[in-house]
Amino acid sequence: MDYNVWPVIKTFDDVMEKLQELNAKKVLLQLPDGLKPHVFQYFNRLSEKYSVVVSSDPFYGACDISTPDVYGDVDCIVQLGHSEIPNIKYPKPMIFMEYRVEKDIQIDESVFQPLRDLGYSKIGLLCSIQYIDQMQKVGAFMNSMGFEVVVGRQDQRMKYPGQVLGCNFSAAHSISAEVDCYVVVSTGKFHAIGAQLASSKDVFVLDMHERRLNEIRPETDRFLRRRYAKLYKARDARKICVVADTKIGQYRIKLANKIVEQAKSIGLEPVLLNTNDVRPSDYENMRCDAVVFTGCPRVSLDEGDKFPMPILTPPEFQQIFGIKDNSRYVMDEIVGVDEIVSQDFTD
Ligand code: SF4
Repeated sequence: MDYNVWPVIKTFDDVMEKLQELNAKKVLLQLPDGLKPHVFQYFNRLSEKYSVVVSSDPFYGACDISTPDVYGDVDCIVQLGHSEIPNIKYPKPMIFMEYRVEKDIQIDESVFQPLRDLGYSKIGLLCSIQYIDQMQKVGAFMNSMGFEVVVGRQDQRMKYPGQVLGCNFSAAHSISAEVDCYVVVSTGKFHAIGAQLASSKDVFVLDMHERRLNEIRPETDRFLRRRYAKLYKARDARKICVVADTKIGQYRIKLANKIVEQAKSIGLEPVLLNTNDVRPSDYENMRCDAVVFTGCPRVSLDEGDKFPMPILTPPEFQQIFGIKDNSRYVMDEIVGVDEIVSQDFTD
C-alpha cells in the first residue's frame, strides 16, 4: 500500500479529519523539540477520540519515525512540523502537519540592492519548508522588481520545488546552469551554508526574522576552515568506525559497506556499525581513531564537537584519504536510502 499520498496538512483540524478517514484507533505522535511545550494540548485533543502515545525521543524530521517497537502497533503516525520525504517507503500511514510561516512579512525593495550591485539578474530561489509560502511571495516581489526568478526543481527526496533540507540541495543543483546566484528564504544560516557548500555560485540568505539579505560565503569559508582543521586530524587514523544509521530515511548501508571496502583498500582497519542512537561514548569505548557516519550529515557537521574523535561524512573521508578528487569540498547529500527489510510492516 502506498502511504505517500497525503495532501498538504497545515492545521490540527485537518489532522483529526484525516485520522477519521483512516479509521485509526491508536496513534503515535512525534513532535520536534520546538513544539514539545504544546504536547499537552495536542495529546488532549487527540485523546478525545484516539488512543495516543507520544514519542519523547529526540527526533530529526520526516527521515525518523522511531523504531518498530514504538510504532509497531499503532494505526498511524502523526508528525508535526515537517513535510514528508516522498521516496521513503513508510511502513505506516503517516500524517505530516507542516508548520509554515504564513503571516505577511514585508521586505523592503532596498534589501535586494546587493544583488543589483553585483550585476545579478537571474536568481535561483530556495527555501526551508517553513518558508515555502513566503518564497512564492518573495519570488513575485522580485519579479515585479525586474529580477528573473527561477525556483529549483527538487529530486524525489523532496516534496516541493525550491525546498532544501540539510541533506538535500537538489533544487539548487537543478538550476545551477541557469542562474547567477541563489537566494535562500529562511532564517539563520544553516540551510544557506549547505547550499553554498553544494554550489560554486554565490548564495544569499534572505533572513525572514531580520528582513535582511546576507551573503553567506564568508560564513561558509569560516565553516570550512574549522572543518578542515578537524578533518586533518583524521589523516593519521587507522581504526575507523563506519556507521549506518537505521532511521528509515537515513539508512545507507550500501554506502557504509562501500566505505568499509575503500577503507580496507588503503590499509585502514574499519568496523561496520548499525545504530539508531548516536552516542559519542560508544565510539570512545571502541577506541576508534575516527568515525565515518553515513546517516544524517548534520551529525558530522553540526554535532562533531560532541565526539572525542573526528567524525566525517562519506565525501570527507574520501577526500581526506585521497579516494576521490580532493580539490574541492563535497557536501554530503542523501538522494535515496536503502530499504530496511526488518522494519517493513506494509500489508
Ligand atoms: S537526514 Fe538530516 S537533514 Fe535530512 S531530513 Fe533527516 S534530519 Fe533532516
